Amino acid sequence: MKANIVTLPGDGVGPEVTAAAVAVLEAVAAHYEHEFAFDEQLIGGAAIDATGEPLPADALDACKAADAVLLGAVGGPKWSDPNAPVRPEQGLLALRAALGVYANLRPLTVHPALADLSPLKNEKLKDVDVLFVRELTGGAYFGAKTKTADAATDECKYTVAEVERVTRRAFELARARRRHVTSVDKANVLETSRLWRRTVTRVAADYPDVTLEHQLVDSMAMLLLTRPGSYDVVVTENLFGDILTDEAAALAGSLGLLPSASLGEGSNGLYEPIHGSAPDIAGKGVANPVGTILSVALLLRHSLRLEAEAQAVEAAIDHVLQHGPRTRDVGGDAGTVEVRDAVLKALADYA
Ligand code: ATP
Ligand code: MG
Repeated sequence: MKANIVTLPGDGVGPEVTAAAVAVLEAVAAHYEHEFAFDEQLIGGAAIDATGEPLPADALDACKAADAVLLGAVGGPKWSDPNAPVRPEQGLLALRAALGVYANLRPLTVHPALADLSPLKNEKLKDVDVLFVRELTGGAYFGAKTKTADAATDECKYTVAEVERVTRRAFELARARRRHVTSVDKANVLETSRLWRRTVTRVAADYPDVTLEHQLVDSMAMLLLTRPGSYDVVVTENLFGDILTDEAAALAGSLGLLPSASLGEGSNGLYEPIHGSAPDIAGKGVANPVGTILSVALLLRHSLRLEAEAQAVEAAIDHVLQHGPRTRDVGGDAGTVEVRDAVLKALADYA
């Protein structure tokens, strides 16, 4: 197949990990005889330096027309002045809004070879295989805000339509997995959570083959640490999802390992590692490229519908995490490029 992929390397370690992931996509194209065209565009601090804007119109247009978008990371100390007229993160928010991506997927597994790095010393860690689906466009982050000298408000608002579309996405995803959905809310206290729970329960009736469980967010925060192996798909609203997915990420042992996908109605999607620009290690060639390469697997699966190719990339990563080389954050001493090359070699065996 032919596909147009826009890459947004961004800031900090973004360009290093994106380059490794593009090499993997190029190898997939060669092995499976696809034609992937890459179009590199500016976002974040790099875009501010070059054009004054965090998401130039050319980059935005290219992303909207693409089959998929692969992002590195945005931000860094150079652009973190709170009084600056424009900030790198605005580019990412504008991009998400323009692409209409409302479901943020974060799969979490704990690789057996890396279980020692996890803060949980629990033999059940090897069973951890959770897909978080976080609502990305509503809730307190986007509601009306007010402030006076001695008070402030953040309105938390959800519509039935917003809850319904992300719920349907979660149930569809559960059908391709272990057919279990856990919906997380605070329905004992919050009106938006009662609407959330009502809507999820109604939508669930259309998926009788999938089991639905409700959890309150406070107890879910505890359950993720006490029995993380019991969850399949976890769907929740924006703020709860932000917090729970960072908590869950800690279980994997390093931020550098985890991918994400942000999806909307069409097949276009935004794929990025969950880590930030990691300014402390930027430019040193030591960033872990695994989270970005696994984001490429998600891109192949969800935007290009190339499941066999996605699984080959995931198998190659499994192989490298098992046998090395590994970057420093996961206990090794290899650089980004050595890990990339090991993944390319393993991929040649699986593809
Ligand atoms: P942001 O505000 O952009 O989300 P952050 O403050 O969450 O960023 P990161 O930039 O993700 O922070 O970095 C947090 C820590 O994790 C840093 O010490 C960084 O070096 C480390 N880290 C992040 N990504 C990687 C990676 N790919 N490989 C190795 N270490 C990483
Ligand atoms: Mg962060």
